Amino acid sequence: MNAPETVLSAIPPASVVDRLAGSGRPALMLGHVHPDADVLGTLLALGACLEAGGRRVVYAGPHPIPDTLGFLPGADRWQVWSAAPETFDLIVLTDCPNDERTNGLLRGARGGDSQVVNIDHHPDNRRYGTINWIDAGAAATGEMVFDLVGALGHRVTAEMALNLFTAIHTDTGSFRYSNTTARTFQIAGRLVAAGADPALVSDRLYQRRSPTSLGALGRLLSGVRLSEDGRVAWLAVPPGSASDEFMVAEDLVTYPRSIEGVDVAVLLRQEGDGSIKASLRGKGKVPVNRIARRFGGGGHDNAAGCTLPGPLEAATETLLSAVRQALDGTEP
Ligand code: 5GP
Ligand code: MN
Repeated sequence: MNAPETVLSAIPPASVVDRLAGSGRPALMLGHVHPDADVLGTLLALGACLEAGGRRVVYAGPHPIPDTLGFLPGADRWQVWSAAPETFDLIVLTDCPNDERTNGLLRGARGGDSQVVNIDHHPDNRRYGTINWIDAGAAATGEMVFDLVGALGHRVTAEMALNLFTAIHTDTGSFRYSNTTARTFQIAGRLVAAGADPALVSDRLYQRRSPTSLGALGRLLSGVRLSEDGRVAWLAVPPGSASDEFMVAEDLVTYPRSIEGVDVAVLLRQEGDGSIKASLRGKGKVPVNRIARRFGGGGHDNAAGCTLPGPLEAATETLLSAVRQALDGTEP
């Protein structure tokens, strides 16, 4: 086995290109839990590129593709695994900061000689690959994979473009968040030129609500709370009041985040197993990934997540007091 290698760069490393180029035994494009557009768009686009190079590719992850993202080209190839059925010589992960976020699938799919290519933009990536390419300056893993497709000498097809544009669109909050750079727009422009339709992406992501969902959204938003000093806004979603699909489609944390003067926004929701999934959003005042890490989670400076024990009220109180400590600079 080669010694693990880590490259922190905005430019696709030659070692990654070498490992992905050429044909050979099937590759596994492996996704993380609750896949979002960044992981799906990059796995599907890069997988299509490997297939064009003559390699067979399997796409899989621990959870299904949410309905709203079913329009991504290649989504019909996605397999949902509770355990890896075999080992693979080549495994590619994108947007996945640590191997626990594959729910054990990486461990099951990895043989002693497997090449594991880890491509990610999370600063806290744990470098679990045989080669780790990490660019924390990329707004989305989609930016990295766009450059990688070019480095592999492949033309960006309209299907790849739609996948990568959607990846970048969602991770930047439709090009609104502070991670959006000139490079983001340059790449987005080239993706549109290659055939990605921005209006189609907006339509699929944001214009397909049912009247019932809009009503549910209205009711839920009345639960947004604001701290006395106005710096923290949160929404604890009462158990049973929203489906998984609804939660994925609505990205509810954006609403507490939208209040003027709020430095940290929090969304909490009970999972099927009774644990509480929390999403944290910041606006540059405190790195919210540091708060998430106190509870075993992680993420970016301004977007992070973690899981806490239930019940919902206790988790809310625990997390809010950690947010308060971060704002006051009084963390233990
Ligand atoms: P979201 O709040 O949308 O689920 O996630 C926001 C960001 O935090 C994403 O970059 C995601 O990868 C990261 N994140 C969310 N939950 C977790 C977690 O439990 N562990 C880690 N390491 N990162 C997380
Ligand atoms: Mn991402």
